[in-house]
Amino acid sequence: MKIAVVGTGYVGLVTGTCFAEVGIDVTCIDIDQKKIDNLHKGILPIYEPGLEEMVSRNVEKGRLHFSTNLAEAITDCDVAFIAVGTPPGEDGSADLKYVLAVARGIGESMNNYCVIVTKSTVPVGTAAKVRTELESALAARGANIEFDVASNPEFLKEGAAIDDFLKPDRIVVGISSARAEEVMSRLYKPFLLNGHPIIFMDIPSAEMTKYAANSMLATKISFMNDVANLCEIMGADVNMVRRGIGSDARIGTKFIYPGIGYGGSCFPKDVKALIKTAQENGYDMQVLRAVEGVNENQKSVLFNKVNAHFGGDLRGLKIAVWGLSFKPKTDDMREAPSLVIIEKLLAAGCTVTAYDPVAMPEAQHSLGDSITYAKDEFDALLDADALLVVTEWPEFRVPNFKVMSRLMKQQVIFDGRNIYEPAEMKEMGFVYHCIGIKTDH
Ligand code: NAD
Repeated sequence: MKIAVVGTGYVGLVTGTCFAEVGIDVTCIDIDQKKIDNLHKGILPIYEPGLEEMVSRNVEKGRLHFSTNLAEAITDCDVAFIAVGTPPGEDGSADLKYVLAVARGIGESMNNYCVIVTKSTVPVGTAAKVRTELESALAARGANIEFDVASNPEFLKEGAAIDDFLKPDRIVVGISSARAEEVMSRLYKPFLLNGHPIIFMDIPSAEMTKYAANSMLATKISFMNDVANLCEIMGADVNMVRRGIGSDARIGTKFIYPGIGYGGSCFPKDVKALIKTAQENGYDMQVLRAVEGVNENQKSVLFNKVNAHFGGDLRGLKIAVWGLSFKPKTDDMREAPSLVIIEKLLAAGCTVTAYDPVAMPEAQHSLGDSITYAKDEFDALLDADALLVVTEWPEFRVPNFKVMSRLMKQQVIFDGRNIYEPAEMKEMGFVYHCIGIKTDH
């Protein structure tokens, strides 16, 4: 089989590389010439554990190619994936201009039957728009070429993307013809070993599945943050409550960790887009509006604790921040809660020194020189009045507290991810604040 993957970001590059890994001939396309030039040199545009090695292995084997030339890549293709960005437009709806531009480009150059698959997260009805775009591009050149559209939303998690793609919980494919179903079955067959299921459905249901999945996960997070905030007021310990409810199989242990709000490139925009889709169709997603509201408030919770601890005057304080990316094992800074927290600290007159194992170059795009970037987690602590743990990178979990204590001017920790034990922190001489547990200082 020969496939093209258009858009070489977090989703496109992982998708293309994983298909190449099972022997398929893949060309990854991007409009960003620099990205493609760098990929030719083995430099990846994103950080994703294990990806660099997998890319170079497949390039060496001659199965994985990079190009800016869509027309060339689409020639003789069996399947073309559209994996470009769908950022939120001004009104919160998903902006489809990149998806539709790619569809047009494919229609302008395809030369044989092909399944055109939206892998980008797109609202219900998008595949129909993709079809119209393809038809009009084909008609403009007087070409009579058969094609199918399909919807194949991606569920990979940044930081574990390769494993998620190679061993998926499920693969969802929306199709409207038996021919497309047969092509997609053949393509995904290598990933279905060991019982990983492929679920075929109609296209609108597939498009909706992705939004429903992300919205459900965002709901779990906001619900737990709401519970955590109440625990703190009432003197309950959210860690205990989490374990208590998570042992119920109907609830489950995952995604019920309180924190400082969800971020990233998907949850915020997908929740917004689903609310907007509903509004446009005369329906009010009440739960999701509340989910968004709780999340906005939650991004301020850690700052509010800092402010309360220091009596409302933060001027001149030196604050250390551990973690900048929206979650561990990625360099993705899109909608990261760290950005909101740092903005508030700076506005209140603090100086901020941050350390993140991989996201500092990416963070610099939005934060510039407004903060200092430390060479390691301990360097960030030098003379600090407080430490804020913002992203739970594994290396922050068991640090040398004695060294930390010596480096810091004041031994105060605000833990936005509840990665330390309050009792142990107290024993070590730290004033410790976390989420959903009223600590006794
Ligand atoms: P990204 O911004 O990392 O990558 C998108 C890429 O598309 C960029 O490299 C951009 O240059 C390229 N592009 C834009 N227009 C193009 C065009 N006309 N031709 C060729 N390339 C073009 O985005 P991403 O994070 O990979 O997300 C892509 C889609 O997948 C989005 O709809 C997103 O919601 C969805 N998604 C993302 C994740 C995730 O974890 N990042 C997970 C599941 C689904």
